[in-house]
Amino acid sequence: MTDARHISQDDLALYALQALSPGATAMVREHLSECDACRNDLAALHGDLAMVALSVDQHPLPAGARERFVQKIAGEARVNAPVAKPAEPVVIDRAPRRSRAGWAGWLAAAAAAIFAVALGFQVNHLRQVVDERDNRIAVLEAGRSRAEQVAEVLTAPTAERVLLTAPKTPPAPAGRVVYLPSHGGLILEASNLAPVPDGKTYELWVIPANGSAPIPAGLFRPDAAGNGSVVLPQIPTGVAAKAFGVTLENAEGSKTPTAPILLAGAVAASGE
Ligand SMILES: [Zn+2]
Repeated sequence: MTDARHISQDDLALYALQALSPGATAMVREHLSECDACRNDLAALHGDLAMVALSVDQHPLPAGARERFVQKIAGEARVNAPVAKPAEPVVIDRAPRRSRAGWAGWLAAAAAAIFAVALGFQVNHLRQVVDERDNRIAVLEAGRSRAEQVAEVLTAPTAERVLLTAPKTPPAPAGRVVYLPSHGGLILEASNLAPVPDGKTYELWVIPANGSAPIPAGLFRPDAAGNGSVVLPQIPTGVAAKAFGVTLENAEGSKTPTAPILLAGAVAASGE
């Protein structure tokens, strides 16, 4: 443990690593309390160990690690023992003693450093794994509960369902035709029509199913409310209609429709 009155570098390293037995630790502590030289050596060792300690988190050593480490150091110390052990004058020979025996202490410190760094990396890695898993679980749980909330709202019998549209959209112009080909009977009722400019009129057209030219079927102008109608215009009887259309024409009417077609409706295919 001590040579002469001082503590060997090996034991100081072990002490710094808290790897000594309780009895040896007490002896070293007692010596340190009254020896500046050994305290300085220990401070130097602590400085080096602190560099290691600062680079990794502090964790208790796993079971058995300390014993294995002490045995390894003890094996090296035994090799150096014949050199280190001879009783020497106390202060004078410290430098040479350190030069021979000291490297075992540095071996110990280096081994401890490597061990601590490796242990630190391992612990950090495990901690990262755990953290990542925790995060993944949290994300999964958050996602599931959100999905459950969505489903709950969508399927609730008491949920109110409202269709939203743009406000104040003017109603679209529309027309309804009733046509009886065998009688040449035709009635149009239209609503929401835009006013016609002066000198203009709406004109209704029958589009024959046989592909011949559109047949003029009456002029009309909407009232102030936008309603207009054509009732029983003079048209041929027996014309099968494919569709009806409304255009804007000059006031006297036209023989052929002028684009665009403002209202149009196809006759439902019924075999008629
Ligand atoms: Zn001492």
